[in-house]
Amino acid sequence: MDCIFCKIANGEIPSTTLYEDENFCIILDIGPASYGHALLLPKKHYANLFELPEELAGKAMILVKKMSTVLNEAVECEGLNVVQNNGELAGQTVFHFHMHMIPRYKKDTVKIGWKIGKLSDEDRDKLAELLADKI
Ligand code: AMP
Ligand code: ZN
Repeated sequence: MDCIFCKIANGEIPSTTLYEDENFCIILDIGPASYGHALLLPKKHYANLFELPEELAGKAMILVKKMSTVLNEAVECEGLNVVQNNGELAGQTVFHFHMHMIPRYKKDTVKIGWKIGKLSDEDRDKLAELLADKI
């Protein structure tokens, strides 16, 4: 499969690796949004969060917490976003599950955000019926 993150995980493409274990790599993003932007990726190919097994999802979150803590202290950022995109419409460009850790600084140029919307009573009731107690 022609997947850039599979190639990175297999060592076919070089990367700056910050951490590695049997399941995951954490690497520096090649096009960083800010100083210290890192990516966690599983060594096996899962296209997105929906495909990722729950057991790996739990492990990924623990590693992201640990690496974010290390980053936070090392680069002395003033905030940090954890971002994870699923699907082209959501901004995913590499279709191998990954989580971004993006340190934030007062004068950075990172844009992550949305306009605060309104939740109608109708949508609230419909969504609650669709989603509550389903997991
Ligand atoms: P996303 O838009 O969430 O799919 O993020 C993909 C990320 O992968 C972007 O931030 C890219 O800069 C990063 N990226 C693409 N190719 C490489 C690579 N060879 N090494 C490290 N990061 C990469
Ligand atoms: Zn892959």
